[in-house]
Amino acid sequence: MFGASERVMKKTIRWQEKTVGIVSLGCPKNAADTERMISDLSGRGYTVVPDLEEAEILLVNTCSFVTDARKESVDAILELSRYKEEGKAKYLVGAGCLVSRYRDQMGALIPEMDLALTTFEEERLGEILDEVGGIAPSNRPRLAFPLAESRLTPSHRAYVKVSEGCDHPCTFCSIPLARGGQVSRPPEEILAEIGHLSSRGVKEVTLIAQDLTRYGHDLGRTDDLSALLERIDREGGIPWVRLLYAYPTLVTDSLLKTMRAAKSVLPYLDIPLQHVDEKILGAMKRPGSVDFMKRLVDRIRQTVPDIVLRTTFIVGFPGEGEAEFETLLRFVEWARFDHVGVFAFSREEGTPSYNLPGQVPHRIRMSRRKELMSLCATIAQEKNRSLEGKTLPVLIEGLSEQSDLVLSGRIMGMAPDGIDGEVLVLSGQGRPGDIVNCRIVKAHAYDLEAWEIGVPEPPA
Ligand code: SF4
Repeated sequence: MFGASERVMKKTIRWQEKTVGIVSLGCPKNAADTERMISDLSGRGYTVVPDLEEAEILLVNTCSFVTDARKESVDAILELSRYKEEGKAKYLVGAGCLVSRYRDQMGALIPEMDLALTTFEEERLGEILDEVGGIAPSNRPRLAFPLAESRLTPSHRAYVKVSEGCDHPCTFCSIPLARGGQVSRPPEEILAEIGHLSSRGVKEVTLIAQDLTRYGHDLGRTDDLSALLERIDREGGIPWVRLLYAYPTLVTDSLLKTMRAAKSVLPYLDIPLQHVDEKILGAMKRPGSVDFMKRLVDRIRQTVPDIVLRTTFIVGFPGEGEAEFETLLRFVEWARFDHVGVFAFSREEGTPSYNLPGQVPHRIRMSRRKELMSLCATIAQEKNRSLEGKTLPVLIEGLSEQSDLVLSGRIMGMAPDGIDGEVLVLSGQGRPGDIVNCRIVKAHAYDLEAWEIGVPEPPA
């Protein structure tokens, strides 16, 4: 078991091949952490192998977002501990949010796990493995950013994390418990990483943070995201720069004007509102009201024309009755977001909302989720239909999973990894990473069909 003061279990093992097998779970932020670990390991002579059975060292980067994610993480560690018993693996490492929250319990429950790293200790992984393997400490400078070879994403796009942790007190969220308060990366480090990505041919960078709009506040600056975006636009050399996760009260006029002016910054904003009813927002310890949210949406759309807005809502939060849910439905009808993620409230141990009065039965949470999702799907299809006949730039991702005869791509208004749907290019010659003009010929609820301009159209 992991002791209170000694948070890692170390033993001496001679590595034969220094091979590492990795399972990375959870959100893009976790993937970015995994990439940084891989980068450091590569620099120390370790090789990441796709076949877990071939690895001497096994690493699971866990997620603790909701119950299902926690179960998936524990299952992955248990599965890999079996590899350790039966295969050539000698050492099992757990990292990420779940390990950060429950390290001591996990150490007791899964004794096969040799090392448990919180998100703030992950950068020490390579150093610890060297120590475990009896490798003399080196004076090699630590890489400040991952090499493109270490990316988990396709070579034409990447996530870049600008800060870690969160200072907000949302009562349903376990992220501050797992990742602590916000720590922003210095702008020079971020720009160096983006410059490196540009030199490797990356076409799209998605900037991520728990709260992107609070970037730099911990460094004593308040409008730092705007300043960072201006520099990325000027110096970054990336055609598409996307912003994921803004906080409603921190979307400043200055940020919106920068988004409008900066050519590479896409007119796309993911701004999780979670709810709009004032009473529910108060219980969530989040700011705002219906009027505030309406003014916010109006202000964004007036300042950045044609902006694509994505948001998320939590339904069935404690205290949400029919009236509060109705307020949310009416707001969604009014706001007509382009993309919406709807979550049913999930009671997270250790968060203040776990014990709030007025818990909503599971059946009602699920039926509200279904109702809101169905409204959002109708709106999304109507909005997609308005794109029919338009010619838009499409970033080609590769062959579609639906058919080898069709390419898959995304317009600016679609974030990577399928969260906003895809463009099926029925007739096209683009390669992954190419940005080609396509005519949208058909809209579905989430996906679009298109033809690449200048390429013969397929037979009817
Ligand atoms: S702003 Fe987001 S990450 Fe931060 S506490 Fe709230 S929900 Fe969690």
